[in-house]
Amino acid sequence: MPELPEVETTRRWLVAHLPGARISAVTLVDRRVVERPAPEAFLRGLVGRAFTTLRRRGKYLLCDLDDGHHLIVHRRMTGNLLLREPGAPADDHTAAVLQLEDGRELRFCDRRRLGRLWLATPAEAAALDARLGPEPLAPEFTSTELARRLAGRRGQLKPLLLDQRVVAGLGNIYVDEALFAAGLHPCRAAETLTAEEVGRLHAAIQAVLEQGLRNEGTTFSDYRGAVGQPGRNQLLVEVFRKDGQPCARCGTTIVKTRVGGRGTHYCAVCQR
Ligand SMILES: [Zn+2]
Repeated sequence: MPELPEVETTRRWLVAHLPGARISAVTLVDRRVVERPAPEAFLRGLVGRAFTTLRRRGKYLLCDLDDGHHLIVHRRMTGNLLLREPGAPADDHTAAVLQLEDGRELRFCDRRRLGRLWLATPAEAAALDARLGPEPLAPEFTSTELARRLAGRRGQLKPLLLDQRVVAGLGNIYVDEALFAAGLHPCRAAETLTAEEVGRLHAAIQAVLEQGLRNEGTTFSDYRGAVGQPGRNQLLVEVFRKDGQPCARCGTTIVKTRVGGRGTHYCAVCQR
C-alpha cells in the first residue's frame, strides 16, 4: 500500500537516476494499466520523450517529460515502479516496461493490477493537483489548517483522514499509526475534537510520515523501492497489523476492526 513515504522514497531514488534518460520503446504487458489516453496514444506520446524531473503529489508520482506532458503513476495497493539495469532478470507481475535508450528499463509491476499509468497534459496534471488536499509535510499544512479542513465535517476521523481531499498522501497504515500516536479513536466524530486534540493529531501525522520516510517506507508484503528494496518502517509500527499483540504504551491487546470498510488497528485504552 504505497502511501506518501513509499512514493516519496521511490521519487528520491528516481530523481537522482532518471532525468535525462530517453524512452526508446514501451511494452504494455497488460493494457489495462493505462488509465488514459487510449493505449495507442499513450505509447505514441511516450516513445522518444526524455524525463526532465520527478515530483510527488499525495500518493501520485509525476514524471515530467521534455514535451511538457507528465507520466503520472498511481500505485494503488500493490504497484511498484522499478528502475532496472540493462540485462536485469524479469520481474514478477510486470504490467508495463519503458525501455530507455541507455539500456535500462523502467518497469511497472503490480500483483493486484489496480495501479494505473496516465499520460497527462499540463491541464490534466493541474486539475489533479487542484482536487487533492494539502501536502501534510508542507509548511502550509499547519494545525490551524487541519482544524479548518475538519471543521463542519461530519463523520469518523479515520475515513476523513483517508479522504485525499482533506489531506493528500495518507493511507491505511499511516492513518492507524497517526491516530495511535495522537491518542484518538479511529471512530471519533471529527466535530468533537478540541483544538488541543487537533494539534496532537497534526503533530502525529507529521511524525509518523517522517519516521516512514527515514526508514524508506513500510513493507508488509508488496511495497518495494525503485531498485526493488523493501522498507524498514514495518519494524517500528505501533498498531498496524499488531492485533493480538500488547500495546507498547499500556499493555492492552491491540484490536482490529473495520472502520469505513477498512481494516483498522487500535488500542481501546490509549485511543479515545
Ligand atoms: Zn494502549
